[in-house]
Amino acid sequence: MGERHRRGSCPALGHADSVHSDDPRRRTPRTDAVLADPLLAEPRTRLGEGIVKRVVADTLDRCRAGEVAPEDVAATAYAALPTYAVSLRRVFNATGVVVHTNLGRAPLSAAAVEALTVAAGATDVELDLATGRRGRRGRDTVAALAAAVPDAGGVHVVNNGAAALALVTCALAAGRVVVIARGELVEIGDGFRIPELLESVGARLREVGTTNRVRLADYEAAIDDDVAFVLKVHPSNFLVSGFTSSVPVRELATLPVPVVADIGSGLLAPHPRLPDEPSAAAALKEGADLVTASGDKLLGGPQCGLLLGRAELVESLRRHPFARALRVDKLTLAALEATLTGPVPPVAAALAADPVALRARAEALAAAIGEVPGGVAEAVDSTAAVGGGGAPGVDLPSAAVALPAALAEPLRLDPELPVVGRVERGRLLLDLVAVDPADDARVAAVVRRVAGAGA
Ligand SMILES: *Cc1c(COP(=O)(O)O)cnc(C)c1O
Repeated sequence: MGERHRRGSCPALGHADSVHSDDPRRRTPRTDAVLADPLLAEPRTRLGEGIVKRVVADTLDRCRAGEVAPEDVAATAYAALPTYAVSLRRVFNATGVVVHTNLGRAPLSAAAVEALTVAAGATDVELDLATGRRGRRGRDTVAALAAAVPDAGGVHVVNNGAAALALVTCALAAGRVVVIARGELVEIGDGFRIPELLESVGARLREVGTTNRVRLADYEAAIDDDVAFVLKVHPSNFLVSGFTSSVPVRELATLPVPVVADIGSGLLAPHPRLPDEPSAAAALKEGADLVTASGDKLLGGPQCGLLLGRAELVESLRRHPFARALRVDKLTLAALEATLTGPVPPVAAALAADPVALRARAEALAAAIGEVPGGVAEAVDSTAAVGGGGAPGVDLPSAAVALPAALAEPLRLDPELPVVGRVERGRLLLDLVAVDPADDARVAAVVRRVAGAGA
């Protein structure tokens, strides 16, 4: 139904003479009358007039077309109302990719979600209630981050990882040179490339080494008075194997210029299951002057960018004019603090999931689903991945429920709770590594409903 038809009043009403008295167009109720129906009073307050009016207008169009009886318009409109005033929909991530960029990266912990609600209204984000004066914005979040990474002299939070890198480069290297290895010229995703980001804020790049190999001597030869810093970028979404070498931060730290390490994933400390993934603590211990990272990858928090490192450097970044353009909002600060201080966030829980427990969940889920059109649900072993957020090449042993591939689309299109799995060797796998165990029963219910509808 087009916007054109929704907006205007029914054209037929202007020519009432030409319609028969039993014509549904004739008996179509007025918009005002439908909106005044008591059924729609609560949604009008909760969702807002705009959303309710739009749905009512659509329903009236269907009434004029004879698809909805005039006396059913209010109830039909009520049933068609969205649940929330947001069109983003919650989906179950059964892809087996823990940090899935297209599904919004890290899901927040319940504590972080609660923090969003607390921060949503007026809050003391920038007010010291004790003195009644302006306070440092997000001081408790900053303190929590500093406490989580004791090796950092200073910390600052910006909008995302790219913003952290842009701020460092703008503040330290505008009109100057950044030295970077050719094997670390990373495309982050969606066509965005780190080298282009650096150039966009006025730095010139000096590439060293080759695609597969670089040595400390290559960096040494590239250093002159124009160099602002050496940048080490973690290849967080690809692997180069074979005849390769790169220079660790520990060796770069011997160069006479600052070293900035873009670790990407936001691991604050080394993770036992991800031995090759760099962490902020390790990079700082090895001598990095500054570390940049994302907050919504392996840290498991809201989208944000972390800057950690030498106190005076971080302070100069925080005071730089460009920092204001990259400032995070109170919601981000609240969710980040709860991620740092609260219970284990879902990403960390998924990384620590026990494959035996995952298999037991898959067995129970398969039994609860049972027969479906074209087969029967079956528990299988699966190999999950950390995702574009970090740790490329790391296999996470997991378990899944295997279903006929024909169910992939209807499950993804489910109007209530879409379930996104992955199709592998002709079967749909619902991998449980990134599914909250508390949601297993709801996933089973969606599958049963969707499979039943297709039977
Ligand atoms: C993800 C990533 C970025 C970009 O971070 P965003 O938070 O997506 O802006 C930059 N560098 C590396 C190494 C990354 O992995």
